[in-house]
Order: sequence, then structure tokens, then C-alpha cells
Amino acid sequence: MAGQDGVAPAEKQIRKNVGRTKIKRRQENSDNPDVHVPKSGSPKKQRRKKGETKEKTEDQNTEDVSMNKEPDENKSIVDGIPKSGPSKKQRTKEETAEKTEGQNAEVSMNKEPDKKLQKKQRRKKEETLKENTEDIAINEDSGKSNRAKISRRKKNETKKSKNEMKVKESIEVPDLIPRRLQLCSTSQKYVGAHVSIQGGLWNAALEAGRIGAKAFGLFLRSQRTWSCKPLEKSAAEKFRRTCKEFGFDSRFILPHSPYLMNLGSPKPDVLQKSRDMLVDELNRCHQLGLTLYNIHPGSHLGEMSVNKCLELISDGINHAHSQVPDITVVLENMSCQGSTVGGRFEELHGIIDLVKDKTRIGVCLDTCHAFAAGHNLSEEKGLKHMLDEFDKVVGLLYLRAVHLNDSKGKVGCRLDRHENIGQGHIGVKGFRQVMNEPRFNEIPMILETPYT
Ligand SMILES: [Zn+2]
Ligand SMILES: [Zn+2]
Repeated sequence: MAGQDGVAPAEKQIRKNVGRTKIKRRQENSDNPDVHVPKSGSPKKQRRKKGETKEKTEDQNTEDVSMNKEPDENKSIVDGIPKSGPSKKQRTKEETAEKTEGQNAEVSMNKEPDKKLQKKQRRKKEETLKENTEDIAINEDSGKSNRAKISRRKKNETKKSKNEMKVKESIEVPDLIPRRLQLCSTSQKYVGAHVSIQGGLWNAALEAGRIGAKAFGLFLRSQRTWSCKPLEKSAAEKFRRTCKEFGFDSRFILPHSPYLMNLGSPKPDVLQKSRDMLVDELNRCHQLGLTLYNIHPGSHLGEMSVNKCLELISDGINHAHSQVPDITVVLENMSCQGSTVGGRFEELHGIIDLVKDKTRIGVCLDTCHAFAAGHNLSEEKGLKHMLDEFDKVVGLLYLRAVHLNDSKGKVGCRLDRHENIGQGHIGVKGFRQVMNEPRFNEIPMILETPYT
């Protein structure tokens, strides 16, 4: 009666498996009703002798675990519908001869419908079930050991990742420096992000280091008010020290002006406050050991000509240059939205042309703004055309930085709406060109969308 006891759970197991395999089979057949390419649960594999199971390598064992889930052979016996042609005995014979032949031979073998074999299998149902019971018992055993191995492996993996987490947690910030320097040594692209100054200016450098940036952008003050308390000496020193520790060269740090600043404003009070603000900001740069300062050129608010606006902007820059040494003012190209100037390269040239000290004026190309202003960076030659035009109108020697932003708006939309890289209308293809553009080597490339 041991046999009966053994058969019942085996049948149960088989029926359970049949249900599962049926669904799978139906899916396979919907693609091609004639061809069934056996996967890991192929009858061929199941035919392996009992002795083989123990000798298997770990990877093979993993395969067999999935095989146990799909005992196709058992299924065909219970249903009386042979899934594949040859009987077990035949196949065992054939197997030896065919082992060296490719999978194609196996596939064609499985395709042949064989009614004789179906009958034979029916007749041998009990016998085979008995065998299967043994097989299943063995497979279960090997399954158990496989499962044990797998769970051991998983445990080890979990341990490993926990250890990695511990290592990550225990990383002292300066440990990132070698990694950053290594990155710098292998690429000429200096990519980074605009980082927050919350908790102190030095936190920006710390954050840039933490994310492995090779460049970074930051505001030097709160954006909301014109007035700002003077920068404390100790805070400036701490910022300088942090940058030094991380190996950030001032060539790759690009502070951004507050949005309130309008050096081309037709309103005298705003114009004056903007000029004062620029001087104050350049002084901060000086204190912080920075050499670049990014501004939005300005806006005429529809109350004066573009040329007059450009003149005012260059006057403001000349004035700041006269007050603070060394710092280069970097004009950001705009999206041609509203009355802002600097969206057209001719306007950037117009400002630069009137700046007295040409060594202290540059341009930052914002990809989103350029796209919105009509440069189709999503096209294959879009970037090349833009840079060729920039070189012709402004001059590549003035190119000092790049702002990396995708665009929510379509090409030429004139809207200043940043989108995450690859999710906007410039798209991944466009940014692939940007990142492979040699004319962007050795300058800061700053992401202005969230990077986490
Ligand atoms: Zn900007
Ligand atoms: Zn920008």
C-alpha cells in the first residue's frame, strides 16, 4: 500500500503542475501552435538519471528547481495528451545518441505527434506514476537542497548588501575625494548639479562632493530679498576649505544670480539695486575664492528698446568689474520669453561687445533655454548647428559653462520650463549629443533639475 500512498500525493502534485503548465502552454501555442521550444523544464532534462542529480553543479541545480515546477512529462501522462512525442525509454536511448546534436534536433523531435506513444503512455500510467513518485521524491530532495543552497546564497547576498550599507554609512565625506579626482582624470566632461546652500554655503560643496559631482552651481544668498547680511569671514573660510578638500576648482563652480536682479531694468530703483547687488555678489565670490558668476542678462519690460537694454546691462557689468577684481561675469542665454534679452546670440554679442574687459565676460548655454529659443537640440545636427552659430555670432572662446536641462515646451516655444533630462522635448538623443560634444569639454555642465 506504500505505492498507493505514494501515488496520491504525486498525482496531486502533478495535477497542480498541470494547471500551471496548461496556462503556459496555451500562451506558447498562441504564438505558434506547432513549435514548442522546451525551456528549463524540458523533458530532456527531466530524463536525467537519478545519480546525475547529486552530481550537478549549483547553477544546474537552480535550473532543476525551476524544472520541478514544470514537470511537463507528468502532465501529459495524467491528461492522456502527450505533449511531446517519444516515450521515456525511447528518449533515453535517443538521448545518448542525440546529446551532441543541437537544440534544433530536440525541437523537431518534440514537435512530432505520436499516437502510439500516447497509447503506450496510457498503458504504462501506473508504472510511470510510480516512477514519477520516486522522481518527485528525489526531485523534492534535490529541490530541498537547492532551496537550501539558494536561501544560503540569498542570506549571503543580504549580508553582503548590509555590509555595503554599513560601509556607505560609515564613509567619511573626504573619502569621496579620491573617487571624484579619479572621475576627473578619466573624462573631460565636468558634470554636476545646482546644489542647495541650506545650512550654510559650505553645505553646497559638501553636497556636490557627496553626489560625486565634478562641478556645481549654487545661489550665494536667499532669493527673496534685495538685502542680505554680509558674508561672515568664518563661513567663507569654511566654504573655501570644503571646496579644497573635495578638490573643486573654481573653474567648475558657477554661482547663479538671484532672480530679482535686472541689470537692464527701465525702472531706476530696480536698476540701481541690481547694480549694487551685482557688486555685492562679485565681492562674495571673491571672498569665497570663486571666479565665475552667472547672471540672467535682464529684461526691458517692453519699456525700452532692446539695444538700450543691452547697453544698460553692459554698463552694469563694467561698473561691477571696476569695483571687484578677477571675477568673470557669465551671461546665461535666455528662452526669448516675454521681454527678456539674451535669447538670441546677437543680443549676447551686443552685451559682450560693450564690455570693456573681455577677459572677464563669458556665456553659459542653457540647453532648455536654447531649445525654447528655437535651437532644435533634439535633431541630429541641432547641437552642431547651434554651436556653429554661437561661434560665428558670439565666439566659442566666450563659452564658459553649460546648464543641462530638458524642456517641457516644444522647440521655439519661448517658455523657460525645465524638465528632467530625457523626459522633455530635447530627449535622450539630444543629450547624448550634448554629452559627446567636445566643445563642452573642460567647462562646468550643471544640471538644474532635481538630481535625486
Ligand atoms: Zn538661470
Ligand atoms: Zn539655467
